[in-house]
Amino acid sequence: AAKAAGKSAYRTCTPALRESAVSRAELIADLRRAVDEGQLQLEFQPIVDLATGAVRSAEALVRWRHPRLGMLDPAKFLPLAEATGLILPIDRWVLQEACRAAAAWRQNAPGVIVAVNIAAAHLRRPDLIATVIAATADAGLSPRALTLELTESALIEGSDVVLDRLRQLRELGVRIAIDDFGTGYSSLSYLHRIPATELKIDRSFVARLGAEAPRAYATVEMVTRLAGAFDLAVVAEGVETEAQHAAVTAIGCVHGQGWRYGRPAALPELLAALTPVDVAR
Ligand code: C2E
Ligand code: MG
Ligand code: MG
Ligand code: MG
Repeated sequence: AAKAAGKSAYRTCTPALRESAVSRAELIADLRRAVDEGQLQLEFQPIVDLATGAVRSAEALVRWRHPRLGMLDPAKFLPLAEATGLILPIDRWVLQEACRAAAAWRQNAPGVIVAVNIAAAHLRRPDLIATVIAATADAGLSPRALTLELTESALIEGSDVVLDRLRQLRELGVRIAIDDFGTGYSSLSYLHRIPATELKIDRSFVARLGAEAPRAYATVEMVTRLAGAFDLAVVAEGVETEAQHAAVTAIGCVHGQGWRYGRPAALPELLAALTPVDVAR
């Protein structure tokens, strides 16, 4: 019985958390304070135009500077945040900060938009639209300069209410990206219902472009064609090598993201990466 109880107590612990001396309950208490105490911070990763190398947008990625555990990646605390509902205030904070950052960089690089990840829980909330309107308005950012990234699984559970909410966001000018495409329960039948503007091919497919070239190539090619048919822009995620860059470019992906173009970095580093090309656009 003790064994079973122990097991269930750890069910939502990530491996990293289990190794540390901090209990789940402590971490939840810490996370509750993290937003108010300014322990969250953002990094930005460029998404480039493959043909020119120009930065087209930057994705905001959250990190938590934990007072005792040091810097934590999203994988170490987002599952807990989602399980407890703390993801809502976290994502709201990320949205506000990212909009502010984008409003500032657009003074020098007017074309460069910002992408923000939004957890599935937001789609079930009627106040999502108001949250987005408030964040962009407070920052003085055009909603057209904002992309919301949603995972396939978040979108697929989409009821008519959710689809309607997405359409309202589109009417405001907000862009909608399907993140990590290919990793969820990809049902092609839902794709035409979702008012998305872009599709991000998951990096697991891009990673295989080196090793199992023919099959991986065919997969990325098929997704790119599919996106074209649905009039969606395509972003290849996780491009690390020259060979992967050459492959996704040859296949016809228009945009790329990954270490080949730039790692997630603090805002000043992103600003330095915004070349005169971006400024000129
Ligand atoms: P994602 O949205 O697919 O973000 C891309 C992830 O891939 C980031 O990890 C990024 O650092 C990593 N990455 C980018 N390029 C490369 C590459 O070339 N090679 C490799 N190996 N990795 C690369 P990160 O920052 O750890 O974020 C992980 C996930 O956490 C994100 O995946 C996203 O789903 C989630 N996430 C991050 N920030 C937020 C947030 O503010 N809110 C919500 N709801 N989710 C977030
Ligand atoms: Mg993303
Ligand atoms: Mg992604
Ligand atoms: Mg991914």
